[in-house]
Amino acid sequence: MASRKDALLGRIAVERGLITNDQLKACMMEQQVAPADPNKTVGPGGATRPLGALLLSKGLLQEKQLLELLEEQDRRLKSLDAFQRMQKVEYLFGQLLVKHDHATQLQINKCLEIQQKRAEMGLLPIPRLGELLVEHGFVDKNTVAEVLKMQNKDLLFCTGCGRQYNVVGVEPGKTYRCKECNGVMMQRSLLESLRAEETSFGFELPTEEA
Ligand SMILES: [Zn+2]
Repeated sequence: MASRKDALLGRIAVERGLITNDQLKACMMEQQVAPADPNKTVGPGGATRPLGALLLSKGLLQEKQLLELLEEQDRRLKSLDAFQRMQKVEYLFGQLLVKHDHATQLQINKCLEIQQKRAEMGLLPIPRLGELLVEHGFVDKNTVAEVLKMQNKDLLFCTGCGRQYNVVGVEPGKTYRCKECNGVMMQRSLLESLRAEETSFGFELPTEEA
C-alpha cells in the first residue's frame, strides 16, 4: 500500500497538472514491485522507492517541481495533523450546541466539513467550529461564547506543537493561537475528559489513500 505521504504527493502532482492520474497509478504500481535498493532491509510493509524519486527518474518531474510538491505536501500534512488533533473537541462542542438547540446537526456537519476541507488544502490556521458557525449565520456570537463558557477554560493546550499555557482571563468565544507555532489552542481538561470515552463522528474522517 502506498504511504500516506506518497499518496498525498501524487494527489498534489495530479491536482497541479504535472502528471496524469494514469501516470500516477502506473508509478504506484511500479513502486510495489521495485524496491529502491534490493540490498536494503525491507520493512514490515515492504519498503518501496519514494514516489518523488520514481517520478524524477522517469522524467515526469523536474527537481524544482518536486521540491515545490514536497513543500506543499509538508504544509498539508501539518494542517491535517492539527485538524485531527482538534477534531474530537470540535465535535463535542458541536454536540453541546445541538443538545441545547442552538444549532442543528446538519449545520454542525456542514461547518465540520468546511474545517476538514480547509485542513486538506493545507490552509493554516484552521478556523474553529464556533467561528465558522457564526460566519455562516447558524449561531450568534453570544451563544458560541455561552457554550464555550460551559467548558473549563484555564489551561490551554496547543494542537499544533503540544505546548501548554496557563491563560489568565480567557475570553469565551475568542480563538487563542500558540505563540510558537500559531496552532489553535484547546483546553487541556476538555481534551483529557474526552480520552476516556469514544466519540462517534457524524462525518467522514480524512482517509490516507488517494
Ligand atoms: Zn504551538
